[in-house]
Amino acid sequence: MAKNIIEISKEEYEEKILKQKGIVVLDFYSDECPPCEALAPKYEDMALKYGHLIKFYKIFRQQNRELATQLGVNSSPTVIFYQDGKEVGHRLTGGIKKSELKAEIQNLLPSEVFAEIEKNQEKKTRTTDVVIIGGGPAGMTAAIYAAQAKLKTILVDSSLPGGQVKSTHLVSNYPGTGNVVQGWELAHKMETQTKESGAEIIGAVDITEINIANGNGKHSVLVDGELEIQSDVMILAMGAKPRLINIPGEIEYAGKGISYCATCDGKYYDGKEVVVIGGGNSAVEESIFLTRFATKVTIIHQFDKLTANATAIEKALANPKINVIYSSEPRKFEIIESNKMKITLEDMKTHKSSTLISDGIFIFIGMVPNTSLLNGKIQKDKWGYLVTNEDMETNIPGVYAVGDIRVKKVRQAATAVGDGCIAAVMSEKYLESEK
Ligand SMILES: Cc1cc2nc3c(=O)[nH]c(=O)nc-3n(C[C@H](O)[C@H](O)[C@H](O)COP(=O)(O)OP(=O)(O)OC[C@H]3O[C@@H](n4cnc5c(N)ncnc54)[C@H](O)[C@@H]3O)c2cc1C
Repeated sequence: MAKNIIEISKEEYEEKILKQKGIVVLDFYSDECPPCEALAPKYEDMALKYGHLIKFYKIFRQQNRELATQLGVNSSPTVIFYQDGKEVGHRLTGGIKKSELKAEIQNLLPSEVFAEIEKNQEKKTRTTDVVIIGGGPAGMTAAIYAAQAKLKTILVDSSLPGGQVKSTHLVSNYPGTGNVVQGWELAHKMETQTKESGAEIIGAVDITEINIANGNGKHSVLVDGELEIQSDVMILAMGAKPRLINIPGEIEYAGKGISYCATCDGKYYDGKEVVVIGGGNSAVEESIFLTRFATKVTIIHQFDKLTANATAIEKALANPKINVIYSSEPRKFEIIESNKMKITLEDMKTHKSSTLISDGIFIFIGMVPNTSLLNGKIQKDKWGYLVTNEDMETNIPGVYAVGDIRVKKVRQAATAVGDGCIAAVMSEKYLESEK
């Protein structure tokens, strides 16, 4: 632990935090907690930078449960900010980014003081054999193979590792997991194996720049605006994110009644009625999952037949809690009284408009690749997916693309890990040939 961070116990809370003048930051952490591990170096870095102006404390949540409960701290890590003994700003939890810590500190310090400290920060540079951007199944597999081949490997992720798998309720088709495994558990095991292989994971960071050398020196990625990681090989594994419908109310009510993740939000609809937009595999499978909580799930699909696989469709249509409105598209989302959602629909055959009221809306209409940082730098198809050959090579020597981010027909965890394996083995051969 950095010398600017002091560990306290519940007995010291009053003295060190509540009776302290000035700004104090307190981190409730736990052991065996990946987001706590991801936060630790960032917290230390902030303590080094701001330790002369702000007091940084840590408290071990498991040994100080009573205090944690009293303060309403129910997840680790939770970072709380105080000024003159009073809690201020926003509590930070989960995969906390350095930019979030900085934003809270910026609000508490005089602006010229904060600006001066940030201005004087030097950009750090690290070099490695292989940098992997994205820690889903594809990126983590590439990291395991590369590290086991004794290549110096750094994996960076804008979130905590795990990718789409970590927020998938159940995975039933991934070999070796005993029929059905919870998504978070599979993701956690992949992360543990990646770390144990010797790869370094830098999670929950802001990636603002990816520079592709194009035969000229090293590739590089800029982390949190202050760490440049240079590498001989770059493996792009940033996956994909849910496609938006882009209609009024969607952005406005995302997280306030509109969700893209049944695993994450389904539990909030116990005993309620929800609407699912979409008709492919994700929409149909997640609708079935949502019936564990919701009393009624209405699927709205633009065509007159669902497009998921036959088994999923059969299961969904046999479920008495699920009904389907075919040939209809949503046109507007609104919140009405008692936090209910109002959906304006257009019938695609008659073009007549109707409305539907529900407690929540889940949208599953496909994915878009996370390739915006690569605009103009690498070959993509018209949908933005990266073009590779069967060795996962892009059009740039030493740059590989793996998993859902690349042009391919089947986007699954199993195909993503296959891509990751190939890219790492080909990277090894590429580095050999470059010697
Ligand atoms: C609801 C749902 C259910 C599914 N069920 C199954 C199933 O049962 N079986 C199955 O095999 N597959 C399933 N899939 C598909 C499977 O999850 C994906 O095919 C797989 O996760 C793709 O892996 P990936 O590593 O390519 O990308 P992802 O899993 O998308 O991981 C990409 C990673 O990159 C990170 N990232 C994104 N942008 C950046 C950036 N700019 N900088 C740094 N990091 C970045 C993300 O945070 C993420 O961690 C499901 C998907 C969904 C959405």
